[in-house]
Amino acid sequence: MKYIDEYRNPEHIERLCASIRKMAQKPYVFMEVCGGHTMNIQKFGIPSLLPSEIKLISGPGCPVCVTDTSYIDHMTALSQLDNTIICTYGDLMRVPGTYTTLEKEKAAGADIRVVLSSLDALKTATENPKKNVIFAAIGFETTAPGTAVAVLEAEKIHLSNFSILSAHKIMPPAMKAIVEDDVKINGYICPGHVSTISGSEMYEEICRDFGLGCVISGFEPLDILQSIYMLLLQLKHVDPKVEIQYKRAVKPWGNRKAKRIMNQVFVAEDGNWRGLGSIKKSVLKLRPQFYKYDAEQQFSVSFNTKEPDKGCICGEILKGKKSPSDCNLFAHKCNPENPVGACMVSNEGTCQAYFKYHQYGR
Ligand code: SF4
Repeated sequence: MKYIDEYRNPEHIERLCASIRKMAQKPYVFMEVCGGHTMNIQKFGIPSLLPSEIKLISGPGCPVCVTDTSYIDHMTALSQLDNTIICTYGDLMRVPGTYTTLEKEKAAGADIRVVLSSLDALKTATENPKKNVIFAAIGFETTAPGTAVAVLEAEKIHLSNFSILSAHKIMPPAMKAIVEDDVKINGYICPGHVSTISGSEMYEEICRDFGLGCVISGFEPLDILQSIYMLLLQLKHVDPKVEIQYKRAVKPWGNRKAKRIMNQVFVAEDGNWRGLGSIKKSVLKLRPQFYKYDAEQQFSVSFNTKEPDKGCICGEILKGKKSPSDCNLFAHKCNPENPVGACMVSNEGTCQAYFKYHQYGR
């Protein structure tokens, strides 16, 4: 198959669903750990196609959602420095910090600009040599190589007014933390885009240590359903393994060049995830030789982070312990126009996915 329509073919979907129904002889819970999967699972109504024995739950796969309050506080504090431009992806603008958001600080006069890539931020720095340009570097293995390229490029052209505040994260430590936190799942639907960079090998440890099947999935309905079918087959044969469903994009070894550049620039350290707390060796920080591009090292700002108690249960949702409909604020006080928590802000957030595709927004 080559084209999108073929991955949405109703006859193929019906056949696959019939096979899934036959295989699902008892309750199973599968977690998807990619915001893109969460969105498409809701958009295409995948849960309504599955037998009641199969439950899909969302994990910490939305990069904006897992960016913790202290990072937003740090970024908004940096935005108050003189002669400073903050460059950020658009989704981060409305994520709440303790007292404010980047969007509110921009409205109040801070120079905060939305960019589409780390290289746009680098360009902003070259065009504004008298200003310090700080890039809000968030995202998983998918965006981290791009940030690493920007840092290497800044070094190559001797750019002294560019820096990043890194909250880049890597996925496997969070997947381990979820299982260790006693969230009961029978298999992982693993992220497609992250795996194009990292490959499938990084899930082997999870599979081995926890006896959990891991299937790397594409994003179309047939991809997701086939991944569920592959997990069910593994369970039937009591043979948990790492498999690639998304073969048209993912290789077991991933993208070696991107991984090499990422490892050259970053090192994994312990760090905070919204809802999951501190996870060992899960956040990518710049190596000491690149500290001149590290906003954390270059600028001293103070901020006071408190987790606001507004009834938001994003943390529990990101762990897969609760669903948006368990939140008292869902679709009432909290909606995409007026988001209370990060899971409603982001285009890949679980709360926004439920809101958009369960008729609440119509
Ligand atoms: Fe938080 Fe809003 Fe989701 Fe409730 S619906 S968990 S308040 S983001």
